[in-house]
Amino acid sequence: MPHRGPEAAELVPKSGWLDGPVAYGRGVESDGRSFELFLEVYGTLPRAGPGGDEHTVRALGLVPGPSPETVLDLGCGPGQQTVALASALPEGRIVALDVLAPMVEQANRRFTAAGFGDRVVALVGDMAEPPVDPGSQDLIWCEGAIYNLGVTEALGAWRPLLRPGGSVAFTEPVWLVESPPQEIRDWWSSEYPAISRRAGVEARIESASYRTVGSFVLPASAWWDEYYGPMRDRVASLRERLPGDPVASDVAAAAEAEIDYFVRFSDCYSYEFFSVQPVG
Ligand code: SAM
Repeated sequence: MPHRGPEAAELVPKSGWLDGPVAYGRGVESDGRSFELFLEVYGTLPRAGPGGDEHTVRALGLVPGPSPETVLDLGCGPGQQTVALASALPEGRIVALDVLAPMVEQANRRFTAAGFGDRVVALVGDMAEPPVDPGSQDLIWCEGAIYNLGVTEALGAWRPLLRPGGSVAFTEPVWLVESPPQEIRDWWSSEYPAISRRAGVEARIESASYRTVGSFVLPASAWWDEYYGPMRDRVASLRERLPGDPVASDVAAAAEAEIDYFVRFSDCYSYEFFSVQPVG
């Protein structure tokens, strides 16, 4: 991660989600089969990005004001953080949103299995235009997905949706060191050139006229336990199932490269959780 998401306009109206062009970054574009294999690796993980329930709950502890009742979880993926939020907020009503129908289906299955089906729902939609009323949300949550819009742009677009006193919590890639080695700088500049140190994220938050209430860096375990660990298993299964298949090999190699960069350079970057609130 991060991967650029597919173009919302291309996917949202479709009922068959694998027919038609998609742009999911890192060469996984255009044909339905490469996207299908891509989803075989990335689409069935416990989480679709670095994180963990304990970090979701810790970040919820940074949210200012009374316990939120209306929550929007944008770029929800398979919905694991939504389940953690629903467990921690017994009075909360949560709308989760993702542009990919298979993610939304998986999230709704998890909500039902956890017994939250009456107050938590996932919908297919674009986080740039969430389908909720202006001034209706106590909390907007976005784990591992705000990069799809950019921090400043997303905070600006979501501000009108917040109730007075409402806030936003999100994770964003950050450099942990002043001068990372050139090799990992090059990789990130092809994946997500906006990666910066924490101060750079805070500058983007301020330029959207928000203040940072609190933040913390995700530990390396948040990348392994529910993300890269299971991803390694999926890659091994894919290679075993389709030996010599060039498309499968490309998808597997991209995942392996991403994991390998983290093995070698995890002291240089991570995701940081930010709790932020509009000012003025
Ligand atoms: N929050 C989840 C988690 O941490 O497991 C998913 C994180 S995953 C890195 C990013 C998610 O953003 C993907 O599920 C992707 O489909 C979704 N996404 C990308 N662009 C989007 C958009 N414009 N609107 C809604 N969701 C989007």
